[in-house]
Amino acid sequence: MASILIAEDEARIAGFVEKGLRAAGYATQIAATGTDALHLAQTDEFDLLVLDVNLPGMDGFQVLEQLRGSGSRMPIIMLTARVELQDTVAGLEGGADDYLGKPFRFDELLARIRLRMRKDDDSGGAPALSHRDLTLDIRTREARVAGTRVELSAREFALAEEFVRNAGHVLSREQLLSRVWGYDFDPGSNVADVYVGYLRQKLGSDRIETVRGVGYRMV
Ligand code: CA
Repeated sequence: MASILIAEDEARIAGFVEKGLRAAGYATQIAATGTDALHLAQTDEFDLLVLDVNLPGMDGFQVLEQLRGSGSRMPIIMLTARVELQDTVAGLEGGADDYLGKPFRFDELLARIRLRMRKDDDSGGAPALSHRDLTLDIRTREARVAGTRVELSAREFALAEEFVRNAGHVLSREQLLSRVWGYDFDPGSNVADVYVGYLRQKLGSDRIETVRGVGYRMV
């Protein structure tokens, strides 16, 4: 049974999430402070962390930073009342896999958890993807250009993976958002464009072309 750590100090929300996840067949544990969440997450007993940003002790961003800094690749979905784009980008740049603004519907959280779990399962069969001189190791999440390691955040890696899997095909902003971010259709969000910019800086500006009015294509 997959096991999920819920880092949330508001008992009402933690209880609601725990009840739903147990009903969906997951084992759960609640951590009510950032410090507890960090310690529990480092035990390797959990398959995924649902991490609130506003926690006593350490906030969610600090927990995230410490976990990623210690080499943990555990999938992390952040919860927060702060829904500004810059917070989202900060959280994702810090290595969170997904981001959900409060208030949220339980089925939305569950869909994202299932998406993350499935991505982990998928990785067993396809250790490496490549396109021209770019190689993505799905298992270790390492990216290389012409053999040289390039540091990508979890989200940048997921976006690069989507482009490589669909090389030569145009991906719309909405497709990128739904496949990489798991968002419902949100025509107002420019987070995909921001991240395409990051990838161009890190992987080379000629690799992803803009197809005006449609989206992006890896060439
Ligand atoms: Ca909180």
